Amino acid sequence: MNNEILLANLRNIPDFPHKGIQFKDVSTLFKNPECLAILVDELYEMYKDKGITKVVGIESRGFIVGAALAYKLGAGFVMCRKPGKLPADTRKASYMKEYGADTIEIHADAISPEDIVLLHDDLLATGGSMSAALRLVESFSPKKTMINFIIELTIEGLNGRALFKDDTEITTLLKI
Ligand code: AMP
Repeated sequence: MNNEILLANLRNIPDFPHKGIQFKDVSTLFKNPECLAILVDELYEMYKDKGITKVVGIESRGFIVGAALAYKLGAGFVMCRKPGKLPADTRKASYMKEYGADTIEIHADAISPEDIVLLHDDLLATGGSMSAALRLVESFSPKKTMINFIIELTIEGLNGRALFKDDTEITTLLKI
């Protein structure tokens, strides 16, 4: 039922930002009070007993639900950002995109070995950006890491999960 409400409110933009891409526009979920509540409440129910101390959101659509969830879990929120945006010392990781490489950064004091970390983003496509974020987070040797996406794209040719080790705990709310 909840998934039907989310799917009915998710906007698809054909050929954005390039021809052939079906862009899943989560802004239509975020602007709808019922959908925003479903997203945060469902994730809270999934993760409330996991002892999570930090939620790491990936810029920028991972910040919205990530921060709301962190608040509800009583956890801290950490931003994984595009290069040059974070003001203090950072750690960096690079990954391959459709056209060339990209880099993401996290503050060098963002995570401690005592943390139990949930990484969150809106959508799993190739998995490149999240696997780079996971490498960054794991460089702090936290007690445990888990990963969540709102949407997992399973259309032909995309198998983002294949980039992660088999024992990586990944959840997704919607498979499209
Ligand atoms: P990837 O690193 O290939 O898994 O791409 C995931 C990131 O790119 C996420 O932050 C998404 O917001 C964005 N993204 C990739 N493909 C799409 C798509 N078809 N619709 C919406 N966002 C996408």
